[in-house]
Amino acid sequence: MKRCTQCNTAKPFGDFQRRAASKDGLQPRCKECVAAYCRDRRKAHIDRIRAVERAYYEEHKEELKVRRADYFQQYAQEHLPEAAERQRRYRKKNKERVYASLKKYRAANPDKVRRWSRKAARRQREKLGAVYVRMLICDGSPLTHADIPQEMVETKRAQLQLRRWLRDNEGSNNNEGTPRTGA
Ligand SMILES: [Zn+2]
Repeated sequence: MKRCTQCNTAKPFGDFQRRAASKDGLQPRCKECVAAYCRDRRKAHIDRIRAVERAYYEEHKEELKVRRADYFQQYAQEHLPEAAERQRRYRKKNKERVYASLKKYRAANPDKVRRWSRKAARRQREKLGAVYVRMLICDGSPLTHADIPQEMVETKRAQLQLRRWLRDNEGSNNNEGTPRTGA
């Protein structure tokens, strides 16, 4: 038996780790006490690290926020095309199911959907999105959106861009027609 210098308990030799430098070849403290000591050390260490991290965070909060936003944006930009493509494939494959759930959602949230589609229409008009441009082409004609080839959309868009530019820079009085659903 050997008495631990820490907990002052007499324990069998097997409860002490070996230590070549000691006279009896064993650690002065029992395994249990050594383990507890290590645990405490680690905990104190971690608390200190966390405190430093917290202080750093508080001091750099705003800049970290910006950096995180940048990172997120970059990530989104890199992954958006494939995500959109995945979504498009899913919608194509599950047309009926998607349509049914959309219909259900629309019935349950009429105000939300109205606000949304108004916003989407505004965005389409601002950005001269394909849906908006197709709508302008079809307006007052028997054509439907599906009849409009992509090149025609691009030509029309270029024309609209030019007109907008003229309107903004030379004050020419122009509107793009009377879109049926423009907000
Ligand atoms: Zn002990």
